[in-house]
Amino acid sequence: MVRVELRNVVRAWEDFRLTIEYLEARDGEFLTLLGPSGCGKTTTLRIIAGFEKPDTGEILFDGKVVNELPPYERGIGIVFQDYALFPHMTVFKNVAFGLEMKRLPKAEIERKVRWALELVGLEGLENRYPEQLSGGQQQRVALARALVVEPDVLLLDEPLSNLDAKIRERLRGEIRRIQRELGITTIYVTHDQEEAMAISDRIAVMNFGKVEQVGKPLELYYRPKTEFVARFLGLSNILELKAKDGKACIGGLCFYVERDGKVRVFFRPESVYVKPGEMAEVVDYELLPGRIRLRLKIGDELILAERFLDELPFSVEELPARVDVDVRSFSILG
Ligand code: ATP
Repeated sequence: MVRVELRNVVRAWEDFRLTIEYLEARDGEFLTLLGPSGCGKTTTLRIIAGFEKPDTGEILFDGKVVNELPPYERGIGIVFQDYALFPHMTVFKNVAFGLEMKRLPKAEIERKVRWALELVGLEGLENRYPEQLSGGQQQRVALARALVVEPDVLLLDEPLSNLDAKIRERLRGEIRRIQRELGITTIYVTHDQEEAMAISDRIAVMNFGKVEQVGKPLELYYRPKTEFVARFLGLSNILELKAKDGKACIGGLCFYVERDGKVRVFFRPESVYVKPGEMAEVVDYELLPGRIRLRLKIGDELILAERFLDELPFSVEELPARVDVDVRSFSILG
């Protein structure tokens, strides 16, 4: 297993600048780079792989600087969004390619390819050509090809983006299972927050060429440090309030905070509990599968509340005009 670090990495073009003071993927960790299109995720991954050189800064594998090592000497396996299989080669040949380049004995190649194909659930398809496979199967071949050389680090750049939703969910679960089974340090690029939450040990949220916050999925989700992270990960309530004597209040709803003055209080809709009462006006609502999303007006502010229908203290048919609100978890944005 290998620890990957970036230190003071800068890569700048005319209209874009990537700056990473420090980023680490720990031994055996599944780290996801998450952010909107153009924020620098792929560039970061390419720098780790060695396809791209930083202007300044260091890339370290297990504490050793690898800046001068070409990709094939870094011990990485890489999977791209578009599979990048050789169309004129069978599944077996595609997966065997890297091993043949290394001139391994035939029997060993055979054994390793079978191992990799079994790992990704493709036994029996060895003699097919890429065009005879579904997108999901092609991506499994790409994954087997990356893993067959037993890399220290697995790099995945939006590997599921070209697949439809059902396959995407299934394959992401399998990528995670394989990663755990092998204990391989993995860095995964996606712009899909749900995918990132589902698959990662930790997530680095990127924006405009910078890492905004790194943390475990639920830590980022419930305790984002910035408005960008809050909004990128899901529906957000953000209230700008004035705190006095350790309390920031709006329309009878109070948050106990550690500092006075202006604060931005953040909470998720599902942290908002409601019961019949007077505090907030029910402006409107939306039904979701098994849930209800209420828009509430409290003081001069609108907030969202989301509850499971079976825990709602009243029926949807008889929604009260006003409710009391209780926010069970919140954080203060920086
Ligand atoms: P996406 O999800 O769309 O792939 P991303 O977050 O992976 O986005 P990058 O592909 O890393 O973003 O690109 C970040 C920025 O760097 C973009 O604005 C892009 O135009 C710029 N960029 C990347 N490579 C080059 C290059 N070779 N020359 C000039 N600009 C580049």
